[in-house]
Amino acid sequence: MYAIGHLALGYLTAKLTAHLTKTKVNMPLILSLSVAPDIDLLVPFIVHRGPIHSIFMAIIIFIPTIIAFRKEALPYLTSLIQHSLIADFITGNTQLFWPLTSQSYGIAIDIESPTSITFEWIAFLIMFTEMVRTKDLQVLLKPHHSNIILAVPTSTVLLPTFIAFPLKVPVSLIIPHIIMLTLFLASILTDMRKTVLKVLNKVN
Ligand SMILES: [Zn+2]
Repeated sequence: MYAIGHLALGYLTAKLTAHLTKTKVNMPLILSLSVAPDIDLLVPFIVHRGPIHSIFMAIIIFIPTIIAFRKEALPYLTSLIQHSLIADFITGNTQLFWPLTSQSYGIAIDIESPTSITFEWIAFLIMFTEMVRTKDLQVLLKPHHSNIILAVPTSTVLLPTFIAFPLKVPVSLIIPHIIMLTLFLASILTDMRKTVLKVLNKVN
């Protein structure tokens, strides 16, 4: 699935986990983790949807975090593993249990098919409605030091897709893509506002 589907499902599953575990989440981190496995698209010689998409590895890597933060860590683990377990399972074949087995799992519906695009749109609309309802949208647009974390998904999976790197965003998903890109950039710049103004004043 494209970034939109991952971001939406990451947000929704993490919020559900937070609700069930009565914990709070840091949204920039939740959103970034939801697309993190696709970093393998940018690394040469690493198979896409291979080891970096393994939910077994994600759980192993998360064990110290769970020991340290207990249930507070669970929404973040959820956001990370849903990437391979839900969206990439639907539109691809993923090595979910590497290194235990290199077998790939998934139903591999064409990522550009109307079914998949509709799914991404519905997930995006539910996420956006939920962000408005819970005022998470306002939180994202308030200055907070963690907003800068959004620079990672912005520079790796949102901005470069307009020049077809690492994937080309389909025309049918450009609107939600631009909305998320604008939201992320606004969130980053809101926090950097003071610094930017200082620099500009010095230049003047
Ligand atoms: Zn992926």
